[in-house]
Amino acid sequence: MKCQNCGAEIKAEEAMAARGQTVCEDCYIDLAAKPKTCDPWAVYSAKNLEKTGSGPDLTQTQSAIVDYLTQNGPTPPGKLAKDMGLTMDEFEREMAPLRHMEKVRAQLQEGEKVICLW
Ligand SMILES: [Zn+2]
Repeated sequence: MKCQNCGAEIKAEEAMAARGQTVCEDCYIDLAAKPKTCDPWAVYSAKNLEKTGSGPDLTQTQSAIVDYLTQNGPTPPGKLAKDMGLTMDEFEREMAPLRHMEKVRAQLQEGEKVICLW
């Protein structure tokens, strides 16, 4: 089955119900944390990049985010964006491909959304 929010393939047992949609865990966390649209084209292009075998190219900012999480562990998105010197909009744009490449993921820790390595 497919996530109705971002279109990612999900197993039936991983499907979560949020706002009347069947969604993947990532979208569920996003929907639970705040309203946000998920870009199906980001999934499409990330998957396509992986298929070519050359490996997905991370931007400098995306590499920095991965390095940061390697050193600091799970971090709330607000703090991560601030430490990276990004606005939340810029941060979300960098995060979308990282998540779809399964480099990082969002989790709920004690009710707070944090970003951690996949
Ligand atoms: Zn999704």
